[in-house]
Amino acid sequence: MNLVLLGAPGAGKGTQAEKIRKALDIPVLSTGNLLRQAIAAGTELGKKVESIIDGGNLVPDELVFGLVAERLREPDCARGVIFDGFPRTIHQAEALDKALAVDVVLDLEVPDDVILHRMSGRRICPNCQASYHVVDNPPRVEGVCDKCGAALTIRHDDQPETVKARLEVYHKQTEPIKEYYRAQGKLRTVQGQPRLSDTVRLVSEALGVAL
Ligand code: AMP
Repeated sequence: MNLVLLGAPGAGKGTQAEKIRKALDIPVLSTGNLLRQAIAAGTELGKKVESIIDGGNLVPDELVFGLVAERLREPDCARGVIFDGFPRTIHQAEALDKALAVDVVLDLEVPDDVILHRMSGRRICPNCQASYHVVDNPPRVEGVCDKCGAALTIRHDDQPETVKARLEVYHKQTEPIKEYYRAQGKLRTVQGQPRLSDTVRLVSEALGVAL
């Protein structure tokens, strides 16, 4: 199954992607994580995209396509992929349709004010990319990743001003994708709930997959 997760930054795509990955045993392709890894590794691509990401803007499509194509060539993608953060423009959605058949698009809807609260408390693991929230989803030991023990960090682009810019970019450039997939009959919408377990239940029902 090829699944696209759609939703604003901070809507919880990464968290749901992880649950679905475990249930279906197919990999998550997160373009945000791939870009952050390129920055951390100091590659040419990483140097090009760092300031764009810190400003809350979208990286040019061609750079993202290169990363996605490279990842899709790996054998673990053969049985299906969970796309997190890709596509983000209609142009990207059209390119993805040319590369493979998207089966389902899960749209996670969360109001902007809730997003701003969530992002201000978000902590991520720079090592394994696990995501936490200081209030809503804290790690067992404060500041330490449950999964790999690394010290948690705040993403550069989670600063309030950058989050506002990212939300604007989302509404302008990414939201129109909903109509694109609705027209294809692939869109399934879930309202994000205050409690993670409630959102997981709704996602599970929407996908018909036990999570
Ligand atoms: P994310 O972790 O998905 O929120 O992505 C973090 C940042 O990486 C975004 O704000 C963009 O600057 C960049 N990015 C991630 N995915 C894409 C994409 N599909 N197209 C363009 N830029 C992207």
